[in-house]
Amino acid sequence: VIEIQHLSKAFGSHEVLKDIDFSVKKGEVVSIIGSSGSGKSTLLRCVNLLEKPSGGQIIYKGENILDDKHDISAYRRRLGMVFQQFNLFNNHNVLSNCVVGQVKVLKRSKAEAEKIALKFLKVVGMDRYVNAKPKQLSGGQKQRVAIARALSMEPDVLLFDEPTSALDPEMVGEVLKVMKELAESGLTMLIVTHEMEFAREVSDRIVFMDKGVIAEEGTPEQIFLNPTQERTKEFLKRTL
Ligand code: ATP
Ligand code: MG
Repeated sequence: VIEIQHLSKAFGSHEVLKDIDFSVKKGEVVSIIGSSGSGKSTLLRCVNLLEKPSGGQIIYKGENILDDKHDISAYRRRLGMVFQQFNLFNNHNVLSNCVVGQVKVLKRSKAEAEKIALKFLKVVGMDRYVNAKPKQLSGGQKQRVAIARALSMEPDVLLFDEPTSALDPEMVGEVLKVMKELAESGLTMLIVTHEMEFAREVSDRIVFMDKGVIAEEGTPEQIFLNPTQERTKEFLKRTL
């Protein structure tokens, strides 16, 4: 679905991403792992253009969407994002959180949007909370609503940036369970995570980032059982 070529990103003179090449294919689940500060979030934010890459190409449907002539809003509509801090609209109830984007951005009717929102709230097990406001929900419930909201936009790829790191430990499981079900349903997912066990279970491919480069990538078996790079081995030794 998305192919990244020679992507770079600098903040001032600080090069955070250097010559990144990778792709996500339709139906694939790719997890990005690596130490704090290695550039995982920046990579994800460049993929969905929350950050403007300093160089390189993002090929989507055969076109480089970083070309000036390209309509990036059309591209961004096709990507969903789930953040560490949920980013729900606190003054909207659960249903409305999943409806507003569909109506505003996709121009769906309110009735159609509500139907679609309900379908995805069921998928994440939050359909009983349609009238609740975010502040009435636990962290795990909020994150499941955020996932339903992203799904309601029916994106080509769903991006997750550490969706469970802001949660109390007892709520991590319910969110990972939903994500696992989505992965098994064939959704295309790109996930930044520190949950190694989860990454190993659900991913088709693991990308290990170190200091702004992809140090190693491969199947979960290759990365977790037979890493070839010294820095991958060291990272895994520290985290597993
Ligand atoms: P973590 O696991 O802690 O979330 P990460 O791998 O997601 O780390 P990034 O957030 O991508 O790392 O940050 C990579 C580097 O880029 C860090 O050195 C960070 O300080 C720097 N950085 C990120 N965003 C900005 C910004 N907006 N301005 C300046 N520097 C930034
Ligand atoms: Mg990060």
